[in-house]
Amino acid sequence: MVKYMSERRLFGTFGVRRVANEVLNPEFASLLAASYGSLIGGRIAVGGDTRTSTPMIKHAIISGLLSSGCEVVDLGILPTPTVQYAVRNYYDGGIIITASHNPPKYNGIKFVDKFGIGIDRDMDLSVEELYFNENPKRVSWDKIKLLYQEDKIIDEYINEVMKRVDVNAIKEAKLKVVVDCGSGAGCFTAPYIFEKLGCEITTLNAQPDGSFPGRNPEPIEANLQDLITMVKELGADVGIAHDGDADRTIFIDEKGNFVPGDKTFALVEKQMLKDNNGGLIVTTVATSTAIYDIAKEYKGEVISTAVGDLLVARKLHEEDGLFGGEENGGLIFPDFVYGRDAALSASKVLEIMAKEKKSLSKLIKTLPNYFNEKMKIECPDDMKEEVLKKISEEVSTLGFKIDTTDGVKIFKEDGWVIIRPSGTEPIFRCFAESKSKKVAEEMVEWGISLIEKFNK
Ligand code: MG
Repeated sequence: MVKYMSERRLFGTFGVRRVANEVLNPEFASLLAASYGSLIGGRIAVGGDTRTSTPMIKHAIISGLLSSGCEVVDLGILPTPTVQYAVRNYYDGGIIITASHNPPKYNGIKFVDKFGIGIDRDMDLSVEELYFNENPKRVSWDKIKLLYQEDKIIDEYINEVMKRVDVNAIKEAKLKVVVDCGSGAGCFTAPYIFEKLGCEITTLNAQPDGSFPGRNPEPIEANLQDLITMVKELGADVGIAHDGDADRTIFIDEKGNFVPGDKTFALVEKQMLKDNNGGLIVTTVATSTAIYDIAKEYKGEVISTAVGDLLVARKLHEEDGLFGGEENGGLIFPDFVYGRDAALSASKVLEIMAKEKKSLSKLIKTLPNYFNEKMKIECPDDMKEEVLKKISEEVSTLGFKIDTTDGVKIFKEDGWVIIRPSGTEPIFRCFAESKSKKVAEEMVEWGISLIEKFNK
């Protein structure tokens, strides 16, 4: 059973995320980086997003790493997946300074292993132990290694994206694209990639700015109204938006409709399975049944993990999987980056539109359709374990099939509901899916009622 966040825990599901210069100040970042550096050693790459606090935290991290005896390579400002790509190919580890889609006051630190995959739970605990004991390795003055700057990795990353799609087919389609970089790290990749793909591009928020003046960095429908308007007014084929660190990509179809992330996941899954004559797909237990339906149709097999992009990435690595993703639109191409990658996701969708010669709305319509409902409810951290146990017992007695990979997922005849405790907040999340909207609504309420029943 997972232990829920206590005062002695720093890491969430992937690294540390806090308000910059409160907990996350230079002393904190430096000590934490030295703790990580003590355990990894070797050559470590460091990079970050466009946040105003990123340079301050990055320099503290570089100091910490150097003091623990690591050689450090500063990759500058770039997307999270670009750092992961670089580490996998050239370095022994990496640290990424980003708070992904969170508001500008936040920042975060993500640690990756030599494959560019977020470090595992045991490693999190080892780093935390050194941090709390204030006991990282400090090398003598004559063992301090060098700091290098590397600014060519973005070009290489962009070229690697080009190698993985049919550039000529996309060029021939002459797609009209509006891209909203959200003033994040995608400013340094997305417009250049679409230009190389021969698209007619209009950019929005393509100036890097850590105060995110144009929009909130989270690519949800409410934050993408300018993009939606632009797509409609310009008669574009597609709108593309990235989050702050450009690992997630979200699409707007030619009619101005927001395309939910699980639809994009299913669309790309179908193409990947068709192109490779089947293969292993990895996702989380909270992802749509559509992923399984498509796998069945196109010779795929699906494995599901607990929720967390790094768990999906690690499973893809262990099992040599073909493709993976999450319901929020984070797609993972394991032959490229062991993590969510926005650049290749966007290019793949353009390739599908070009090859199938269909509009995005038509392509989405061909996918299996399910309705999802989400709710959350408060529950004290110390009650979570017991509530979950009692729910599992109750529904098993009622004869329902369950999956306890992450919380409890209950399968009913016409859908499923998953009840998951948050690892960072005193809440349970409840998520239901069915082919009927009404059933999905009823099921999510049933899930909440189960939590209420045992949270007493
Ligand atoms: Mg992100």
